[in-house]
Amino acid sequence: MQTRQSPSPAETISDGRVTPSLRIIPRAEHGISRRQISAAALKVLYRLAEAGHAAYLVGGAVRDLLLGGSPKDFDVATDATPEQVQALFRNCRLIGRRFRLAHVLFGAEIIEVATFRAIHADPDDDREVVDGRVVRDNVWGTQEEDALRRDFTVNALYYGITDFAVRDYVGGFEDLIGRRLRLIGDPETRYREDPVRMLRAVRLAAKLGFVIDPPTEAPIARMRGLLREVPPARLFDECLKLFLTGHAVESFLGLERHGLIPVLFPETAQALASDREGKGRALILRALSNTDARVREDKPVTPSFLFAALLWPAYRAAAETRSAAGLDPQRAHQEAAQEVLSAQTRIVALPRRFSGPLVEIWGMQWRFERRQRRRVVALLQHPRFRAAFDFLALRREESAALAELVEWWEAAQRAGDRELADLLAAAAGSSEERKTRRRRRRRGRKREAGSAAEG
Ligand code: ATP
Ligand code: MG
Repeated sequence: MQTRQSPSPAETISDGRVTPSLRIIPRAEHGISRRQISAAALKVLYRLAEAGHAAYLVGGAVRDLLLGGSPKDFDVATDATPEQVQALFRNCRLIGRRFRLAHVLFGAEIIEVATFRAIHADPDDDREVVDGRVVRDNVWGTQEEDALRRDFTVNALYYGITDFAVRDYVGGFEDLIGRRLRLIGDPETRYREDPVRMLRAVRLAAKLGFVIDPPTEAPIARMRGLLREVPPARLFDECLKLFLTGHAVESFLGLERHGLIPVLFPETAQALASDREGKGRALILRALSNTDARVREDKPVTPSFLFAALLWPAYRAAAETRSAAGLDPQRAHQEAAQEVLSAQTRIVALPRRFSGPLVEIWGMQWRFERRQRRRVVALLQHPRFRAAFDFLALRREESAALAELVEWWEAAQRAGDRELADLLAAAAGSSEERKTRRRRRRRGRKREAGSAAEG
């Protein structure tokens, strides 16, 4: 565990307030060069500065540049109001109501320009409402105040375009070198203000390979329940950042370590707890590792497939229970999918355009078992075939029969008419066996459990 070597410029005092002091890191002492900054961001910074405004790069971009990475987006902070920013750029849109921002557009690239804001004392009882509109978040402030309202010290560094120096009010530069995530101010207060910061801590630690500073880490165990009060749509956005930006495995392990899986995915957590062999967890990790590989290769990734995997252990258990109770596979599938998704979307709002394809991926799993010519041809032409087959392949390790099924469908996809006929004949043999087995079991009162979910 790392500890701080020397006091950082901003010390948290006992009542949780921060006494900031400014440290300026000159160009010669840091690695950020203008060549690493997008041309669009540079244009915005220069134009603001020429008009006499403060012009800084801030947040994740400065952090990632200092770490030698290439940021995916560049955020700018200024003392100009959104209207003043708009007056300077033809290609500028003002967005947001509670949190007004200027977006300057350069083709597909958007540079977000935010006015320095003051700290949020208590978001619940200290709001100013004008004409029914909350304006509290639009109280402009100084650069120092803007730094203090940010989450982690390493996210509160400012790179200035006039002197190329980095400004640090909270000890972020030192934390960056120590590779540690530390909340600005009193951690409990900051989590209460915005519980999503707990997920951001886990996500950024996973993404950057940083440790979470012990005082920032400790309250998560007792405060994680607060995440239940976060709007489900916001948790969905955060899930996409956790799992679809190239560090899904590390994020999942971090969430597990901090007891956050039961908060975000209670049904999954419950299913994993009673899955002694750990096959459900292994499937999730395989899915996440594939997702990370696809992100690295710039291949498309989809929330449907991701959630199909994250919720599979819960769905599978629910479908098995219903099959064992005698429901036919199609009904077992529909009811299980419905049950798992309606519980999950109360916490993380998965939009319908993703839950629809997800249910199809699940539903097609048991259709892979039925290998009569007509069904096979129909399935091969199904628009969701590829995703459903990739999912089947993830399940390969569930059983030997499933591994065989994956091989068979792999061959079926490549097969011409004649080879398909051979494959179908071979499958007919094995499915004949299966039918007899099933008939025998049915007679013995109990139906084969989990035919909807099992291979
Ligand atoms: P990423 O690389 O994943 O984009 P980021 O730090 O840039 O990480 P963003 O969500 O893009 O994350 O936020 C930009 C900046 O806004 C952050 O660096 C931080 O300064 C501030 N910020 C974002 N979310 C919060 C929050 N919940 N509370 C306080 N400050 C925040
Ligand atoms: Mg960002």
